[in-house]
Amino acid sequence: QPGITIIGAGLAGCEAAWQAAERGLRVILYEMKPRVFSPAHRSPDLAELVCSNSLRGTGMNNAVGCLKEELRRCATLFMQAADASAVPAGGALAVDREAFSAFITDCIERHPNIDLQRRELAAVPAQGTTIIASGPLTSAPLAADIARLTGSGQLYFYDAIAPIIEADSIDHAIAWKASRYGRGGDDYINCPLSREEYYAFIEALRSADKVPGKHFEKVIHFEGCMPIEEMAERGDMTLAFGPMKPVGLPDPRTGKEPFAVVQLRQDNLHATLFNMVGFQTKLTWPEQRRIFRTIPGLQNARFARLGSMHRNTFINAPACLDQHLRLKAEPRLFFAGQITGVEGYVESAACGFLAGLFAAGQVLGNPLPLPPPTTSLGALLGHLAHSEPDSFQPMNINYGLFPPVEERKRKRAERRLALAERALCDLEVWRRQILAATSDLLFRPQ
Ligand code: FAD
Repeated sequence: QPGITIIGAGLAGCEAAWQAAERGLRVILYEMKPRVFSPAHRSPDLAELVCSNSLRGTGMNNAVGCLKEELRRCATLFMQAADASAVPAGGALAVDREAFSAFITDCIERHPNIDLQRRELAAVPAQGTTIIASGPLTSAPLAADIARLTGSGQLYFYDAIAPIIEADSIDHAIAWKASRYGRGGDDYINCPLSREEYYAFIEALRSADKVPGKHFEKVIHFEGCMPIEEMAERGDMTLAFGPMKPVGLPDPRTGKEPFAVVQLRQDNLHATLFNMVGFQTKLTWPEQRRIFRTIPGLQNARFARLGSMHRNTFINAPACLDQHLRLKAEPRLFFAGQITGVEGYVESAACGFLAGLFAAGQVLGNPLPLPPPTTSLGALLGHLAHSEPDSFQPMNINYGLFPPVEERKRKRAERRLALAERALCDLEVWRRQILAATSDLLFRPQ
Protein backbone atom coordinates (compact mmCIF):
# COMPACT_ATOMS: atom_id res chain seq x y z
CA GLN A 1 0.00 0.00 0.00
CA PRO A 2 1.53 3.37 -0.99
CA GLY A 3 2.12 5.78 1.83
CA ILE A 4 3.32 9.11 3.08
CA THR A 5 4.98 10.46 6.21
CA ILE A 6 3.74 13.55 8.01
CA ILE A 7 5.70 15.45 10.64
CA GLY A 8 3.54 17.22 13.24
CA ALA A 9 -0.02 16.35 14.26
CA GLY A 10 -1.25 19.90 14.69
CA LEU A 11 -4.04 21.53 12.69
CA ALA A 12 -2.33 21.10 9.33
CA GLY A 13 -0.76 17.69 9.93
CA CYS A 14 -3.99 16.07 11.15
CA GLU A 15 -5.98 17.43 8.21
CA ALA A 16 -3.33 16.29 5.73
CA ALA A 17 -3.23 12.84 7.34
CA TRP A 18 -7.01 12.54 7.20
CA GLN A 19 -7.20 13.54 3.54
CA ALA A 20 -4.48 11.12 2.48
CA ALA A 21 -5.78 8.27 4.64
CA GLU A 22 -9.34 8.72 3.38
CA ARG A 23 -7.96 8.26 -0.13
CA GLY A 24 -6.49 4.93 0.78
CA LEU A 25 -2.91 5.93 1.53
CA ARG A 26 -1.00 4.56 4.48
CA VAL A 27 0.07 7.49 6.67
CA ILE A 28 2.76 7.58 9.33
CA LEU A 29 2.09 10.66 11.43
CA TYR A 30 4.81 11.79 13.86
CA GLU A 31 3.94 13.95 16.85
CA MET A 32 6.47 14.85 19.54
CA LYS A 33 3.84 15.49 22.26
CA PRO A 34 3.52 14.40 25.03
CA ARG A 35 7.23 13.51 25.26
CA VAL A 36 8.32 16.95 24.09
CA PHE A 37 6.17 20.09 24.29
CA SER A 38 6.83 23.34 22.46
CA PRO A 39 6.76 26.39 24.77
CA ALA A 40 3.11 27.08 23.80
CA HIS A 41 1.60 23.58 23.65
CA ARG A 42 0.11 22.10 26.83
CA SER A 43 -2.27 19.27 25.91
CA PRO A 44 -1.29 15.75 24.90
CA ASP A 45 -4.14 15.79 22.38
CA LEU A 46 -3.60 16.47 18.68
CA ALA A 47 -4.69 19.62 16.78
CA GLU A 48 -4.31 21.78 19.87
CA LEU A 49 -5.57 25.37 19.75
CA VAL A 50 -2.69 27.01 21.58
CA CYS A 51 -4.28 30.37 22.30
CA SER A 52 -7.77 31.67 21.47
CA ASN A 53 -10.68 29.23 21.06
CA SER A 54 -12.10 31.33 18.21
CA LEU A 55 -11.98 30.30 14.56
CA ARG A 56 -13.08 33.85 13.76
CA GLY A 57 -16.08 35.24 11.83
CA THR A 58 -18.75 33.13 10.18
CA GLY A 59 -20.26 35.76 7.86
CA MET A 60 -19.28 36.08 4.21
CA ASN A 61 -18.30 39.72 4.79
CA ASN A 62 -15.08 38.28 6.19
CA ALA A 63 -12.87 36.10 3.99
CA VAL A 64 -12.25 33.67 6.84
CA GLY A 65 -16.01 32.98 6.84
CA CYS A 66 -15.75 32.07 3.17
CA LEU A 67 -12.68 29.89 3.79
CA LYS A 68 -14.45 27.98 6.54
CA GLU A 69 -17.44 27.41 4.28
CA GLU A 70 -15.15 26.05 1.58
CA LEU A 71 -13.53 23.71 4.09
CA ARG A 72 -16.97 22.61 5.27
CA ARG A 73 -18.07 21.83 1.70
CA CYS A 74 -14.88 19.84 1.18
CA ALA A 75 -15.77 17.70 4.21
CA THR A 76 -12.59 18.49 6.12
CA LEU A 77 -11.97 16.90 9.48
CA PHE A 78 -11.20 20.38 10.83
CA MET A 79 -14.69 21.70 10.10
CA GLN A 80 -16.37 18.51 11.28
CA ALA A 81 -14.57 18.91 14.61
CA ALA A 82 -15.33 22.64 14.76
CA ASP A 83 -19.05 22.23 14.07
CA ALA A 84 -19.27 19.38 16.58
CA SER A 85 -17.62 21.39 19.35
CA ALA A 86 -19.01 24.89 18.64
CA VAL A 87 -19.93 27.14 21.57
CA PRO A 88 -22.10 30.31 21.35
CA ALA A 89 -19.97 33.23 20.11
CA GLY A 90 -22.19 35.69 18.23
CA GLY A 91 -20.93 36.19 14.69
CA ALA A 92 -17.86 34.03 15.25
CA LEU A 93 -17.25 30.30 15.30
CA ALA A 94 -15.72 29.47 18.66
CA VAL A 95 -15.17 25.97 19.95
CA ASP A 96 -14.69 24.10 23.19
CA ARG A 97 -10.96 23.60 22.67
CA GLU A 98 -10.78 20.28 24.54
CA ALA A 99 -13.78 18.81 22.71
CA PHE A 100 -12.34 20.05 19.40
CA SER A 101 -8.95 18.40 19.94
CA ALA A 102 -10.50 15.25 21.41
CA PHE A 103 -12.69 14.86 18.30
CA ILE A 104 -9.70 15.08 15.97
CA THR A 105 -7.47 12.90 18.17
CA ASP A 106 -10.13 10.21 18.25
CA CYS A 107 -10.61 10.25 14.44
CA ILE A 108 -6.87 10.08 13.79
CA GLU A 109 -6.18 7.36 16.37
CA ARG A 110 -9.00 5.18 15.07
CA HIS A 111 -8.31 5.56 11.38
CA PRO A 112 -7.09 2.21 10.04
CA ASN A 113 -4.74 3.88 7.55
CA ILE A 114 -3.02 6.16 10.06
CA ASP A 115 -0.12 5.05 12.22
CA LEU A 116 0.39 7.75 14.89
CA GLN A 117 3.89 7.70 16.30
CA ARG A 118 4.45 9.82 19.38
CA ARG A 119 8.04 10.93 18.97
CA GLU A 120 10.10 13.87 17.85
CA LEU A 121 11.69 13.68 14.43
CA ALA A 122 15.04 15.43 14.49
CA ALA A 123 15.42 15.33 10.71
CA VAL A 124 13.27 15.05 7.62
CA PRO A 125 13.20 11.40 6.41
CA ALA A 126 15.76 10.84 3.66
CA GLN A 127 13.27 9.07 1.38
CA GLY A 128 9.59 8.95 0.55
CA THR A 129 6.83 11.51 0.16
CA THR A 130 6.75 13.60 3.31
CA ILE A 131 4.63 16.51 4.52
CA ILE A 132 6.36 18.86 6.95
CA ALA A 133 3.67 20.35 9.19
CA SER A 134 5.63 21.02 12.35
CA GLY A 135 4.20 24.49 12.88
CA PRO A 136 5.41 27.90 14.04
CA LEU A 137 7.25 26.34 16.97
CA THR A 138 9.02 23.53 15.11
CA SER A 139 11.53 21.82 17.38
CA ALA A 140 15.10 23.09 17.04
CA PRO A 141 16.79 20.01 15.50
CA LEU A 142 14.11 19.66 12.85
CA ALA A 143 14.24 23.40 12.11
CA ALA A 144 17.98 23.08 11.52
CA ASP A 145 17.36 20.27 9.04
CA ILE A 146 14.62 22.27 7.27
CA ALA A 147 17.03 25.21 7.02
CA ARG A 148 19.52 22.89 5.32
CA LEU A 149 16.88 21.68 2.85
CA THR A 150 15.48 25.10 2.00
CA GLY A 151 18.92 26.65 1.56
CA SER A 152 20.62 29.67 2.94
CA GLY A 153 18.45 32.32 4.59
CA GLN A 154 15.08 30.88 3.54
CA LEU A 155 13.84 29.81 6.99
CA TYR A 156 12.77 32.51 9.42
CA PHE A 157 12.27 32.28 13.18
CA TYR A 158 10.53 35.54 13.89
CA ASP A 159 7.67 37.55 12.43
CA ALA A 160 8.10 41.29 12.14
CA ILE A 161 4.93 42.29 10.44
CA ALA A 162 3.90 45.77 9.38
CA PRO A 163 0.20 46.61 9.01
CA ILE A 164 -1.46 46.15 5.63
CA ILE A 165 -4.13 48.57 4.41
CA GLU A 166 -6.91 48.11 1.88
CA ALA A 167 -6.04 50.42 -1.03
CA ASP A 168 -9.50 51.87 -1.51
CA SER A 169 -9.57 53.14 2.08
CA ILE A 170 -6.59 55.48 1.52
CA ASP A 171 -7.44 59.17 0.98
CA HIS A 172 -5.79 60.01 -2.34
CA ALA A 173 -6.65 63.69 -1.98
CA ILE A 174 -3.88 63.76 0.67
CA ALA A 175 -1.64 60.77 -0.13
CA TRP A 176 0.18 60.68 -3.47
CA LYS A 177 1.99 58.12 -5.59
CA ALA A 178 5.73 58.49 -6.13
CA SER A 179 9.04 56.75 -5.57
CA ARG A 180 11.85 58.48 -3.72
CA TYR A 181 13.69 60.88 -6.08
CA GLY A 182 11.30 59.73 -8.81
CA ARG A 183 13.28 56.50 -9.22
CA GLY A 184 11.30 53.45 -10.27
CA GLY A 185 8.03 55.12 -11.24
CA ASP A 186 5.09 55.66 -8.92
CA ASP A 187 5.53 52.52 -6.89
CA TYR A 188 4.73 53.91 -3.42
CA ILE A 189 1.82 55.75 -1.86
CA ASN A 190 3.10 58.54 0.41
CA CYS A 191 1.39 60.10 3.41
CA PRO A 192 2.79 63.49 4.53
CA LEU A 193 3.16 64.67 8.15
CA SER A 194 3.84 68.24 9.26
CA ARG A 195 6.22 68.89 12.18
CA GLU A 196 3.28 69.13 14.62
CA GLU A 197 1.66 65.97 13.27
CA TYR A 198 4.96 64.10 13.49
CA TYR A 199 5.63 65.07 17.11
CA ALA A 200 2.07 64.21 18.11
CA PHE A 201 2.54 60.84 16.39
CA ILE A 202 5.82 60.15 18.27
CA GLU A 203 4.16 61.02 21.58
CA ALA A 204 1.23 58.73 20.78
CA LEU A 205 3.63 55.85 20.03
CA ARG A 206 5.51 56.38 23.28
CA SER A 207 2.41 56.35 25.46
CA ALA A 208 0.53 53.59 23.56
CA ASP A 209 -0.35 50.17 25.01
CA LYS A 210 2.04 47.48 23.85
CA VAL A 211 1.63 43.69 23.72
CA PRO A 212 3.88 42.14 26.38
CA GLY A 213 6.33 39.53 25.04
CA LYS A 214 5.35 35.90 25.76
CA HIS A 215 7.55 34.26 28.37
CA PHE A 216 9.31 32.19 25.72
CA GLU A 217 9.80 35.01 23.27
CA LYS A 218 13.11 36.66 23.70
CA VAL A 219 12.74 40.17 22.39
CA ILE A 220 14.92 40.03 19.31
CA HIS A 221 15.13 43.28 17.41
CA PHE A 222 17.45 42.36 14.64
CA GLU A 223 18.75 44.86 12.17
CA GLY A 224 16.01 46.45 10.09
CA CYS A 225 13.29 44.93 12.25
CA MET A 226 13.05 47.22 15.25
CA PRO A 227 9.45 48.04 16.23
CA ILE A 228 8.52 51.65 15.49
CA GLU A 229 7.57 52.36 19.10
CA GLU A 230 11.09 51.27 20.13
CA MET A 231 12.54 53.67 17.54
CA ALA A 232 10.33 56.44 18.91
CA GLU A 233 11.84 55.79 22.38
CA ARG A 234 15.38 56.15 21.02
CA GLY A 235 14.97 59.80 20.06
CA ASP A 236 12.57 62.37 18.64
CA MET A 237 14.07 62.20 15.16
CA THR A 238 14.92 58.48 14.91
CA LEU A 239 11.83 57.74 12.83
CA ALA A 240 12.17 60.92 10.75
CA PHE A 241 15.68 59.76 9.78
CA GLY A 242 14.51 56.13 9.43
CA PRO A 243 11.33 54.70 7.93
CA MET A 244 9.60 58.13 7.92
CA LYS A 245 12.33 60.05 6.12
CA PRO A 246 10.88 62.55 3.64
CA VAL A 247 13.92 63.14 1.40
CA GLY A 248 13.23 62.91 -2.31
CA LEU A 249 9.46 62.95 -1.77
CA PRO A 250 8.06 66.44 -2.43
CA ASP A 251 4.35 66.73 -1.77
CA PRO A 252 2.71 67.66 -5.12
CA ARG A 253 0.28 69.94 -3.28
CA THR A 254 3.08 72.19 -1.94
CA GLY A 255 6.09 71.27 -4.10
CA LYS A 256 8.09 70.86 -0.83
CA GLU A 257 9.25 67.86 1.16
CA PRO A 258 7.01 67.36 4.21
CA PHE A 259 8.55 67.06 7.69
CA ALA A 260 8.03 63.28 7.58
CA VAL A 261 6.46 60.71 5.26
CA VAL A 262 4.88 57.30 5.78
CA GLN A 263 5.39 55.16 2.68
CA LEU A 264 3.00 52.40 1.62
CA ARG A 265 4.20 49.67 -0.70
CA GLN A 266 2.03 47.49 -2.94
CA ASP A 267 1.52 44.15 -1.25
CA ASN A 268 -0.36 41.96 -3.73
CA LEU A 269 -0.65 41.44 -7.46
CA HIS A 270 -4.04 43.08 -7.71
CA ALA A 271 -2.81 46.28 -5.97
CA THR A 272 -5.70 46.11 -3.53
CA LEU A 273 -3.39 45.94 -0.48
CA PHE A 274 -0.53 48.21 0.62
CA ASN A 275 1.83 47.69 3.56
CA MET A 276 3.26 50.41 5.80
CA VAL A 277 6.97 50.30 5.03
CA GLY A 278 9.14 49.70 8.11
CA PHE A 279 6.15 49.82 10.49
CA GLN A 280 6.58 46.50 12.31
CA THR A 281 5.14 46.99 15.78
CA LYS A 282 4.07 45.43 19.05
CA LEU A 283 1.37 48.01 19.77
CA THR A 284 -1.97 46.44 20.68
CA TRP A 285 -4.43 46.19 17.80
CA PRO A 286 -6.83 48.91 19.07
CA GLU A 287 -3.85 51.25 19.55
CA GLN A 288 -2.59 50.57 16.02
CA ARG A 289 -5.99 51.43 14.55
CA ARG A 290 -6.26 54.58 16.69
CA ILE A 291 -2.72 55.90 16.16
CA PHE A 292 -2.18 54.96 12.50
CA ARG A 293 -5.46 56.65 11.57
CA THR A 294 -3.95 59.94 12.79
CA ILE A 295 -1.56 59.78 9.80
CA PRO A 296 -2.86 62.16 7.10
CA GLY A 297 -4.38 60.12 4.27
CA LEU A 298 -5.07 57.15 6.53
CA GLN A 299 -7.89 58.68 8.58
CA ASN A 300 -10.35 56.09 7.21
CA ALA A 301 -7.85 53.25 6.74
CA ARG A 302 -9.16 49.70 6.85
CA PHE A 303 -6.53 47.24 7.97
CA ALA A 304 -6.36 43.89 6.16
CA ARG A 305 -3.92 42.90 8.88
CA LEU A 306 -2.33 44.67 11.79
CA GLY A 307 1.32 44.64 12.75
CA SER A 308 2.85 42.08 15.07
CA MET A 309 6.16 40.61 16.15
CA HIS A 310 6.39 37.12 17.56
CA ARG A 311 8.19 33.85 17.28
CA ASN A 312 7.23 32.02 14.12
CA THR A 313 9.15 29.44 12.14
CA PHE A 314 8.26 29.83 8.48
CA ILE A 315 9.93 29.37 5.13
CA ASN A 316 10.17 31.80 2.26
CA ALA A 317 7.40 30.00 0.37
CA PRO A 318 7.46 32.02 -2.89
CA ALA A 319 11.18 31.29 -3.20
CA CYS A 320 11.14 27.66 -2.05
CA LEU A 321 7.78 26.08 -2.90
CA ASP A 322 5.91 25.37 -6.09
CA GLN A 323 2.17 25.90 -6.40
CA HIS A 324 1.46 22.41 -5.04
CA LEU A 325 3.28 23.22 -1.78
CA ARG A 326 6.29 21.11 -2.82
CA LEU A 327 9.88 22.05 -2.22
CA LYS A 328 11.11 23.08 -5.68
CA ALA A 329 14.51 21.52 -5.01
CA GLU A 330 13.04 18.21 -3.79
CA PRO A 331 9.41 17.75 -4.87
CA ARG A 332 8.84 14.65 -2.72
CA LEU A 333 8.72 17.08 0.21
CA PHE A 334 5.54 19.06 0.87
CA PHE A 335 5.03 21.80 3.46
CA ALA A 336 1.75 22.51 5.24
CA GLY A 337 0.37 24.86 7.87
CA GLN A 338 1.83 27.91 9.46
CA ILE A 339 5.38 26.93 8.45
CA THR A 340 4.47 27.79 4.83
CA GLY A 341 3.66 31.40 5.75
CA VAL A 342 -0.08 31.20 6.11
CA GLU A 343 -1.27 32.62 9.41
CA GLY A 344 -4.04 31.38 11.69
CA TYR A 345 -5.81 28.21 12.74
CA VAL A 346 -8.23 28.06 9.81
CA GLU A 347 -5.56 28.91 7.24
CA SER A 348 -3.19 26.28 8.68
CA ALA A 349 -5.88 23.60 8.48
CA ALA A 350 -6.75 24.71 4.92
CA CYS A 351 -3.12 24.41 3.93
CA GLY A 352 -2.98 20.92 5.48
CA PHE A 353 -6.07 19.95 3.50
CA LEU A 354 -4.42 21.00 0.23
CA ALA A 355 -1.06 19.40 1.03
CA GLY A 356 -2.77 16.12 1.97
CA LEU A 357 -4.71 16.10 -1.30
CA PHE A 358 -1.73 17.04 -3.45
CA ALA A 359 0.57 14.52 -1.77
CA ALA A 360 -2.02 11.76 -2.18
CA GLY A 361 -2.45 12.67 -5.84
CA GLN A 362 1.30 12.59 -6.40
CA VAL A 363 1.83 9.24 -4.69
CA LEU A 364 -1.06 7.69 -6.60
CA GLY A 365 0.25 9.04 -9.89
CA ASN A 366 -2.80 11.20 -10.38
CA PRO A 367 -1.80 14.88 -10.00
CA LEU A 368 -4.74 16.96 -8.79
CA PRO A 369 -5.75 20.37 -10.18
CA LEU A 370 -5.14 23.53 -8.17
CA PRO A 371 -8.16 25.26 -6.63
CA PRO A 372 -9.20 28.26 -8.77
CA PRO A 373 -7.53 31.52 -7.69
CA THR A 374 -11.00 32.98 -7.11
CA THR A 375 -11.60 30.62 -4.16
CA SER A 376 -10.26 31.27 -0.66
CA LEU A 377 -8.16 28.13 -0.98
CA GLY A 378 -6.74 29.36 -4.28
CA ALA A 379 -6.15 32.87 -2.90
CA LEU A 380 -4.22 31.42 0.02
CA LEU A 381 -2.05 29.34 -2.32
CA GLY A 382 -1.61 32.42 -4.52
CA HIS A 383 -0.22 34.35 -1.56
CA LEU A 384 2.39 31.63 -1.00
CA ALA A 385 3.28 31.20 -4.67
CA HIS A 386 3.16 34.73 -6.04
CA SER A 387 4.25 37.07 -3.23
CA GLU A 388 7.49 38.95 -3.63
CA PRO A 389 10.16 36.64 -2.10
CA ASP A 390 12.23 39.59 -0.82
CA SER A 391 9.43 40.89 1.38
CA PHE A 392 7.38 37.76 2.00
CA GLN A 393 5.42 37.82 5.27
CA PRO A 394 2.84 35.45 6.77
CA MET A 395 -0.75 36.39 6.06
CA ASN A 396 -4.28 35.57 7.16
CA ILE A 397 -6.85 35.01 4.44
CA ASN A 398 -8.48 38.29 3.39
CA TYR A 399 -10.42 39.54 0.39
CA GLY A 400 -7.47 41.63 -0.76
CA LEU A 401 -5.84 38.35 -1.86
CA PHE A 402 -8.70 37.56 -4.27
CA PRO A 403 -8.78 38.73 -7.89
CA PRO A 404 -11.22 41.68 -7.85
CA VAL A 405 -14.79 41.13 -9.08
CA GLU A 406 -15.21 42.43 -12.59
CA GLU A 407 -18.38 44.42 -12.34
CA ARG A 408 -18.20 47.60 -10.25
CA LYS A 409 -19.99 46.97 -7.00
CA ARG A 410 -20.91 50.17 -5.24
CA LYS A 411 -20.55 49.19 -1.62
CA ARG A 412 -17.73 47.31 0.03
CA ALA A 413 -20.18 44.84 1.61
CA GLU A 414 -21.69 44.09 -1.81
CA ARG A 415 -18.24 43.58 -3.33
CA ARG A 416 -17.34 41.13 -0.59
CA LEU A 417 -20.52 39.16 -1.03
CA ALA A 418 -19.87 38.99 -4.77
CA LEU A 419 -16.35 37.65 -4.08
CA ALA A 420 -17.74 35.01 -1.71
CA GLU A 421 -20.47 33.95 -4.15
CA ARG A 422 -17.95 33.60 -6.95
CA ALA A 423 -15.59 31.66 -4.64
CA LEU A 424 -18.22 29.13 -3.60
CA CYS A 425 -19.46 28.70 -7.16
CA ASP A 426 -15.93 28.09 -8.50
CA LEU A 427 -15.13 25.83 -5.55
CA GLU A 428 -17.97 23.53 -6.55
CA VAL A 429 -16.46 22.98 -9.99
CA TRP A 430 -13.06 22.18 -8.49
CA ARG A 431 -14.55 19.98 -5.74
CA ARG A 432 -16.26 17.86 -8.38
CA GLN A 433 -12.99 17.54 -10.32
CA ILE A 434 -11.23 16.36 -7.15
CA LEU A 435 -14.00 13.92 -6.35
CA ALA A 436 -13.93 12.53 -9.88
CA ALA A 437 -10.14 12.23 -9.80
CA THR A 438 -10.07 10.44 -6.44
CA SER A 439 -13.40 8.61 -6.32
CA ASP A 440 -11.85 5.34 -7.44
CA LEU A 441 -9.53 5.60 -4.47
CA LEU A 442 -12.11 6.52 -1.85
CA PHE A 443 -13.07 3.78 0.57
CA ARG A 444 -10.59 1.41 -1.07
CA PRO A 445 -10.87 -1.84 0.92
CA GLN A 446 -7.93 -2.41 3.26
P1 FAD B 1 0.72 23.36 15.10
O1 FAD B 1 -0.72 23.34 15.35
O2 FAD B 1 1.62 24.05 16.07
O3 FAD B 1 1.18 21.85 14.93
C1 FAD B 1 2.52 21.48 14.79
C2 FAD B 1 2.72 20.17 15.56
O4 FAD B 1 4.01 19.68 15.25
C3 FAD B 1 2.68 20.38 17.06
O5 FAD B 1 1.74 19.49 17.63
C4 FAD B 1 4.10 20.07 17.51
O6 FAD B 1 4.14 19.44 18.78
C5 FAD B 1 4.60 19.15 16.42
N1 FAD B 1 6.05 19.15 16.21
C6 FAD B 1 6.90 20.21 16.13
N2 FAD B 1 8.16 19.80 15.87
C7 FAD B 1 8.11 18.43 15.78
C8 FAD B 1 9.08 17.42 15.55
N3 FAD B 1 10.37 17.71 15.35
N4 FAD B 1 8.68 16.12 15.53
C9 FAD B 1 7.38 15.78 15.74
N5 FAD B 1 6.42 16.70 16.00
C10 FAD B 1 6.78 18.02 16.00
N6 FAD B 1 -3.79 31.39 15.27
C11 FAD B 1 -5.09 31.76 15.40
O7 FAD B 1 -5.87 31.69 14.44
N7 FAD B 1 -5.55 32.20 16.61
C12 FAD B 1 -4.77 32.27 17.70
O8 FAD B 1 -5.22 32.65 18.77
C13 FAD B 1 -3.39 31.90 17.58
N8 FAD B 1 -2.57 31.96 18.65
C14 FAD B 1 -1.28 31.55 18.54
C15 FAD B 1 -0.46 31.61 19.67
C16 FAD B 1 0.86 31.19 19.60
C17 FAD B 1 1.72 31.24 20.81
C18 FAD B 1 1.37 30.74 18.35
C19 FAD B 1 2.81 30.27 18.26
C20 FAD B 1 0.58 30.71 17.23
C21 FAD B 1 -0.77 31.11 17.29
N9 FAD B 1 -1.61 31.09 16.19
C22 FAD B 1 -2.93 31.45 16.31
C23 FAD B 1 -1.07 30.79 14.86
C24 FAD B 1 -1.41 29.39 14.25
O9 FAD B 1 -2.72 29.42 13.80
C25 FAD B 1 -1.25 28.23 15.17
O10 FAD B 1 0.06 28.16 15.59
C26 FAD B 1 -1.65 26.88 14.50
O11 FAD B 1 -1.71 25.91 15.47
C27 FAD B 1 -0.68 26.46 13.40
O12 FAD B 1 -1.04 25.21 12.91
P2 FAD B 1 0.08 24.17 12.41
O13 FAD B 1 -0.60 22.89 12.13
O14 FAD B 1 0.87 24.78 11.35
O15 FAD B 1 1.05 24.01 13.66
